[in-house]
Amino acid sequence: MALLYDILTYNESFVEKKSYEPYETSKFPKKGMVILSCMDTRLLELLPRAMNLRNGDAKIIKNAGAVLSHPFGSVMRSILVAVYELSANEVYVVGHHDCGMSTVNPEHMVEKMLQRGVHPDVFSTLAGAGIDLKLWLEGFETVETSVAQSVGIIKSHPLLPHEIPVHGLVIHPTTGKIDVVIDGYTHSQNN
Ligand SMILES: [Zn+2]
Repeated sequence: MALLYDILTYNESFVEKKSYEPYETSKFPKKGMVILSCMDTRLLELLPRAMNLRNGDAKIIKNAGAVLSHPFGSVMRSILVAVYELSANEVYVVGHHDCGMSTVNPEHMVEKMLQRGVHPDVFSTLAGAGIDLKLWLEGFETVETSVAQSVGIIKSHPLLPHEIPVHGLVIHPTTGKIDVVIDGYTHSQNN
């Protein structure tokens, strides 16, 4: 059976049996935190377990690499919504070792796009529109540097309240061990 139909069949009995009851909570994060992390499959359950988070504890934003690349993109907007509308008062950027974004090669990806049927003209059209695909698709060299960069953009954002601590962490995708790159409490005091 196709995946979607498997999901829908499962879902019907999930709702019918009221299996949702253990997860009932509110949209306001109980622990007052918003997390930016990576979409890596290994972190799906591991990240919340390793950080002692249950349903309702945190707002979690995910993308490829846990990267905040644009100060006025959707990730920063989500953080601001979490802070101003949903009472989050701490921000956590949680990257991880062995991240797929550290090995993304923009040239290879463009090759694959061509192989999958994207017309070559599309690339010149995008270039003409000022979109630098290589830059846009580029990964990062080390996760620590990437996390520190994202923390820096968030912390210095003109719309973020000054007192909000912004932490930078790196999690191990197998053991769940967390290393601190930036401790937002001391970082706030120094700034
Ligand atoms: Zn990743």
